[in-house]
Amino acid sequence: MGRSGSGSSLEALRRRIVSCRKCPRLVDFREEVARRKRRAFADEEYWGRPVPGFGDPGARLVVAGLAPAAHGANRTGRMFTGDGPRGAGDTLMRALHGIGLASLPFARSRDDGLSLRGVYLTAALRCVPPGNRPLARELENCLPFLVEELELLGKAKAILALGRVAFGACLKALELMGHPVPRPRPAFGHGARYRIGPYWLVASYHPSRQNTQTGRLSEESFREVVAGAARLAGLRGHIRSKSAPEAKAPPGKAPSPPSRRGRSPNHRPAR
Ligand code: SF4
Repeated sequence: MGRSGSGSSLEALRRRIVSCRKCPRLVDFREEVARRKRRAFADEEYWGRPVPGFGDPGARLVVAGLAPAAHGANRTGRMFTGDGPRGAGDTLMRALHGIGLASLPFARSRDDGLSLRGVYLTAALRCVPPGNRPLARELENCLPFLVEELELLGKAKAILALGRVAFGACLKALELMGHPVPRPRPAFGHGARYRIGPYWLVASYHPSRQNTQTGRLSEESFREVVAGAARLAGLRGHIRSKSAPEAKAPPGKAPSPPSRRGRSPNHRPAR
């Protein structure tokens, strides 16, 4: 499949993702969470199914997380949506909104009116895993969806991977797409960026509460990485706020990352 997909192809992929039941453990868990609910959302009908990608079919920047949150995307049915005011979705949306790529600085529900420009949100895993810890075979099961999505997003130039697991899944997806991965193999690090085939792959700590509220990741540092990835994707024309300078690394090399404030050697991505 070439890099010339259409919105209708993405829609067909979306339908296949939403009906997937390939991982028994995850099917049980996502449905159990949807039945039990969190008290604050007791009146809501949870999505409780795999969560498809969301965003602009003509995206130049793809943002990949780990998986839906139990009471976030697994509840709302939209990537990075419903995590709450200080949750990952709102932190991401504030960063995208600040550079003109999201219509709202938050993501609350599927009908909140949020639209993205030049950006598509996806994940390594489409079903919430217990404890945010997927099994290797579950990530393998879900990888073809990421591969197919990237192939359909024919204008994508940069992939921003949020967290170590998402970074690894993106590397595998690019390999499966036939793009040679540099040796030594790219290492995860906040702000690290690598040229792989026609893409820039950029790594960031996940903007989960676990990271932002413990000081592992500051909002400023996250915004800088998001803005840098957007520039690498060629979204400069859309960006209205001043932010990190554009990277000028030659292909295949990782230039100095933007600010590493918030980095901790003990960091473990929450999702
Ligand atoms: S994680 Fe992916 S492969 Fe597994 S059941 Fe969910 S959608 Fe299917």
